[in-house]
Amino acid sequence: MEIGFIDLKSQYRRYKAEIDSSILRVLDGASFILGKEVHELEEALSGYAGVKHSISCSSGTDALLMALMAFDVGPGDEVITTPFTFFATAEVVSLVGARPVFVDIRPDTYNINPQKIVERITERTKAIVPVDIFGQVADLDEIMEIARPRGIAVIEDAAQSFGAEYRGRKACSLGNIACTSFFPSKPLGCYGDGGAAFSDDDRLAERIRVLINHGQTRRYVHSLVGINGRLDTIQAAILLTKLEHFEQELVARTRIAKTYIEGLSNVDAIVLPSIPEDRTSVFAQFSIQVPDRSEFVSRMQAQGIPTAIHYPIPLYRQEAFSHLCVDPVDFPITEGVCRRIVSLPMSAFLSEQDQSTILQAIVKHYGA
Ligand SMILES: *Cc1c(COP(=O)(O)O)cnc(C)c1O
Repeated sequence: MEIGFIDLKSQYRRYKAEIDSSILRVLDGASFILGKEVHELEEALSGYAGVKHSISCSSGTDALLMALMAFDVGPGDEVITTPFTFFATAEVVSLVGARPVFVDIRPDTYNINPQKIVERITERTKAIVPVDIFGQVADLDEIMEIARPRGIAVIEDAAQSFGAEYRGRKACSLGNIACTSFFPSKPLGCYGDGGAAFSDDDRLAERIRVLINHGQTRRYVHSLVGINGRLDTIQAAILLTKLEHFEQELVARTRIAKTYIEGLSNVDAIVLPSIPEDRTSVFAQFSIQVPDRSEFVSRMQAQGIPTAIHYPIPLYRQEAFSHLCVDPVDFPITEGVCRRIVSLPMSAFLSEQDQSTILQAIVKHYGA
């Protein structure tokens, strides 16, 4: 059998009976929008992350959009973020009419470099959006210390890090608002699009709750202009079922990452993920840097080993952001990482046998 990059089929086979019956319960109840599973899920999510409020919504992108709207970010404002992320992180900044301001990343964790943030703050800076890239929390304490005295909002893009820990706290609990994604391939995924926003702030949470539902405060009474950004009840039911197995999956992901790290530690050509002592990663991606990426990818492909590149193009090089006129010279770390990074198959269901096939192929390629 083929090796899956993210093995969603095995996961479904394992939980099939529970997932099917949870979907059937929703079909029977016919409460497809804001049904009871949506509220149950929100309670479970906020309990898990240790945050007062969680608001489920239609995607991670919409969660980020609502977070910016909750802070009234708009034309004339600047939002500091990383160029080494999925497009959506900065897309939503442009969508509300504000300007993304990119800051280079740390060479070890690939997360935004807090020291460089300070240099880019202006009187227009309204928010900072650190991304927990590959499932490892960014330097949120340092970033909060920079932002708080200046009255700048911090929105944690935790789309890849649900379940990760940072100094004894959970991802999604670390900014003024946090946003996660339940896109199928994320560590906790649903069977379609989904996401959630988190906040300890009553006012912000209520604003997001109203914004995701057309700005409606009572039926047909609209206090704000929002969007249709609700999570379907069926997706909530699937997530509730998957959440019961999530801790177990994290244990498996951690074991698989450790096996990769041990198996590749003698391969000098490779740069392995670096996880500081004070945090964990949920390994949304297991990404390494290699010196010969295109040869490496085709060699793996020839042996039936899928790989992916997160991310080949820094956001400031995207055509959609060409008007920002960013000079790549200011981003030496991002430039190098985008050239060398490659992700290996990773999921809680990667078998020992498949992983050892992958490891052998890599070790052989580099003759280590
Ligand atoms: C996946 C992802 C998003 C977008 O989430 P969707 O649910 O796909 O809209 C945003 N930011 C990052 C870092 C992501 O990885």
